[in-house]
Amino acid sequence: MKCPFCNKDEDHVLDSRVVRDGLAVRRRRECSACKKRFTTYEYVERIPLMIVKNDGQRESFDREKLISGIALACTKRPVSMATIEKIVSEIENEIADEYKLEIESKELGERVLIKLIDLDQVAYVRFASVYRRFQNINEFAQAMRNIDEVQRNQLSKQKVK
Ligand SMILES: [Zn+2]
Repeated sequence: MKCPFCNKDEDHVLDSRVVRDGLAVRRRRECSACKKRFTTYEYVERIPLMIVKNDGQRESFDREKLISGIALACTKRPVSMATIEKIVSEIENEIADEYKLEIESKELGERVLIKLIDLDQVAYVRFASVYRRFQNINEFAQAMRNIDEVQRNQLSKQKVK
């Protein structure tokens, strides 16, 4: 970190503490050249993610909205809120790792489905029917076939063991 007084890039950290309810780390630094002290703050980078809806309109990603959508699909299913939070965090991290600034709502839905299909198949079908807005019985049947496939894969994995 460049010293704001002498511009030299040689400092050491005297003290480091978590502040603002864990949202930031404050570091007290001392310039090794001029011995003056300065403070830096470190935050997690939050890149605003935009969702492109089916009609082409954009809206900012709403974590709470996605969580409540998944929670609705998991009604009366053995899936805890902590698990749902974890799914959403995983998806957020995946998207951040890909440096995406926007994502189609369809793709976001598919990413949730990939997580749900292994977790709870009833929740999977419920979420799929809302997200994909099944137009006809064939699409619904396809979702059921996907579940069959996962079950078969799980069975064959068990056999290998
Ligand atoms: Zn300095």
